[in-house]
Amino acid sequence: MQIRDWSEEGFIEHMLEQFKAPKDVVGIGDDCAVIPISDKDVWLITTDILVEGTHFLKEQSSPVDLGYKSIAVNVSDIAAMGGVPNYAFLTLAIPKDLDRIWLEQLSAGMKEACQKWNVNLLGGDTVCSKKDIFLSVTLVGRTSSQQVKYRNTAQVGDILCVSGYLGQSGGGLKFLQENVSNGERFIEAHFRPDPDPKLGAWLASHEEVHAMMDISDGLNRDLTRLLEASKCGAVVETTHLPISKELMQVCELRGWDPLEIALTGGEDYCLLLTIAEESFTQKFRETLYPIGYITDREGKIDYLKKGTPLQLKLKDFKHF
Ligand code: ADP
Ligand code: MG
Repeated sequence: MQIRDWSEEGFIEHMLEQFKAPKDVVGIGDDCAVIPISDKDVWLITTDILVEGTHFLKEQSSPVDLGYKSIAVNVSDIAAMGGVPNYAFLTLAIPKDLDRIWLEQLSAGMKEACQKWNVNLLGGDTVCSKKDIFLSVTLVGRTSSQQVKYRNTAQVGDILCVSGYLGQSGGGLKFLQENVSNGERFIEAHFRPDPDPKLGAWLASHEEVHAMMDISDGLNRDLTRLLEASKCGAVVETTHLPISKELMQVCELRGWDPLEIALTGGEDYCLLLTIAEESFTQKFRETLYPIGYITDREGKIDYLKKGTPLQLKLKDFKHF
């Protein structure tokens, strides 16, 4: 069997069986690993890789944006668990003929992101690759053990919310793939994710927030992960999905499906969370978009359009 048949999830499942985390440590399965520092505090550790040809095309991406994004996508995983980002490590595999200016700009983009989120880069590794660029960042953050939020703790009846627009980055990718003009604002969303660890920490400070994760692979795929981890299901009212007016207009003009982009486009880097129904009060309404609720249909998402069941044929992004 090849990895394309086994799938990313199949391999991760295998690793999870092979490498059980020690007591009091949370390992494979959530946005970050969680390691106790003391009775009160925990380290949060996450790693993400950007690969030329898979995540970016060198001729389409500026090295400054790429450097920025390599930090931002990891900040998103720390925010997803309610933490504050602290320390980063950079591993690079690059071809011999890569331009020095390209690398200096990459480092400038990383520095900009590190300053924005108060992250210190403390080390890494640099090696030669045959052809493509591989850029991996490991990020360490921390929070109080009381406050960590997980993806496996959603409860039936919870209100399901997202913290930002869906499909802006996916729209940007469409503009890049189809090589059409006037997509600056979407391309910006694609190259410059804007995770919000302050919001993550504020949400995590509330007991009534039951489960939380970030959306990196599209709502459809990431919500499925949350539901499988929590052994429950969800109803999503598609007319409540936060899709920007601009995206709706562009989709109309270009004949793109806004729902497909919002559900499968990926790289939104906002938060997906569930909140106890009776606690979904004004303070949450002001900051979040409620899009549905949690059900007992394990692993299943039921999409509705104005209350009527909607059959969607969605094609999630898959690495294999
Ligand atoms: P995210 O999109 O939040 O970064 P992923 O979907 O990449 O998370 O990974 C899901 C979980 O699987 C995480 O807990 C991650 O640490 C773990 N994981 C992914 N790839 C590997 C691997 N090669 N070895 C061990 N654990 C892995
Ligand atoms: Mg994540």
